[in-house]
Amino acid sequence: MASEKQDYYDILGVHRNASEAEIKKAFRKQAIQHHPDKNPGDKAAEEKFKELSEAYEILSDAQKRAQYDQFGHAGVSGGGFSSGGFGGFGGGSPFGDIFGDIFGDIFGGGNTRGRTQGRRGDDLLYNMEVTFEEAAFGVEKKIEVPFAKRCTTCSGSGSKPGTDPKVCPTCRGAGQVRYQQGFFSVSKTCGQCNGEGKVVDDPCPDCRGKGSVKDTKTLSIKVPGGVETGSRLKSPGDGGQGLKGGPNGDLYVAISVKEHPLFQREENNVICEFPISFIQASLGCEVEVPTLDGKVAMKIPEGTQSGKIYRLRGKGIPSLQGYGRGDQLVIIRVETPSNLNKKQKELLEEFARISGEDVHPLKKGFLDKVMDFLS
Ligand SMILES: [Zn+2]
Ligand SMILES: [Zn+2]
Repeated sequence: MASEKQDYYDILGVHRNASEAEIKKAFRKQAIQHHPDKNPGDKAAEEKFKELSEAYEILSDAQKRAQYDQFGHAGVSGGGFSSGGFGGFGGGSPFGDIFGDIFGDIFGGGNTRGRTQGRRGDDLLYNMEVTFEEAAFGVEKKIEVPFAKRCTTCSGSGSKPGTDPKVCPTCRGAGQVRYQQGFFSVSKTCGQCNGEGKVVDDPCPDCRGKGSVKDTKTLSIKVPGGVETGSRLKSPGDGGQGLKGGPNGDLYVAISVKEHPLFQREENNVICEFPISFIQASLGCEVEVPTLDGKVAMKIPEGTQSGKIYRLRGKGIPSLQGYGRGDQLVIIRVETPSNLNKKQKELLEEFARISGEDVHPLKKGFLDKVMDFLS
């Protein structure tokens, strides 16, 4: 499995920030030492040489290296298998492309042992949209996922019943082909048979030689409270069915949280902007603030300024780790009245006449600073 794969930098014995030249040098040195021609019949050396070649292929290519640095083995394409199983998922997700690339590698291929151990089923990615509240407190949802099921007509062989697959003419059944790269001969998964060593001559009519057919299944997914956009859940073994005795793939659920009309999230805190009139702000008032747990009464003291933040402890998002909750931060927005009628304007003008600078200390202080600055 991909997760058991050794780090490419470790394989070559170089630092993560090694230069291109250092990587090349490290590869040459080790490749010469472990080259199969130098170690005939030595399985360990052969394996080591394969690892070296693979590591070098990635790290010597700036683009592949950058992808590897960011996503690990998941980010780079190593094998000849194609992905698959994603066709049925809702497109338009920002993760689609990344996952497509990742799954193409780790899950479909990269496993050169596939020929003898069967092929691992495809991993599936499901993009799940949840509401703000569902993300906060968790939810259980039933989803329909497509997956590749072993074809019953041909028992997964891909060949028309009564016929057998024949030995691949390109690799002569080895599943690997050798090619020359600079001074070295490197083996790579055979492209014609995808490393299987056999090709189907007379394909099964039901699966058209693929050995699997498309099917769907209903799964119940438990989304824990505290997830956010970008959270990924893994449901092991719920991906595509393994072929020829290989293990099933896994199902991944990528969460995206819908926007809420009132709340925003910042880590585990819920942010809520709360508008009040300048009269409420001036005289003080009691308001009802919406929270994830319902309305909460809050006292706004007289003279409250716009932008003031009040904290409602424990009214935020539960931690994904299962203990504690964030807070709700209520940001006060004092609203300037608009569309005033004549009477209202007269009253405000009257108010202005009888009010000195002492009722607007912020404005007075600012004007004093302006005077100092310009004098
Ligand atoms: Zn079939
Ligand atoms: Zn082949």
